[in-house]
Amino acid sequence: MPRYDYRCRTCGATFELRRPMSQSDAPAMCPAGHDDVAKLMSMVAVTGTASGGAAAAPAEGGGGGCCGGGCCG
Ligand SMILES: [Zn+2]
Repeated sequence: MPRYDYRCRTCGATFELRRPMSQSDAPAMCPAGHDDVAKLMSMVAVTGTASGGAAAAPAEGGGGGCCGGGCCG
């Protein structure tokens, strides 16, 4: 049976309940008796954002020597 995490908006307590998936959206009750409870996403895969970004492009202009053909001097 899946387990769901909840957080009470009234007292801030977090708790978990085991209930069938069909009742995952059913209202939960805080252990302290509050009914203003938010369901947390407990099975979030923490993969992070893709690192890197833009690939480092080679900064070479053209083939050749100093200034691209001929010499700078
Ligand atoms: Zn509470």
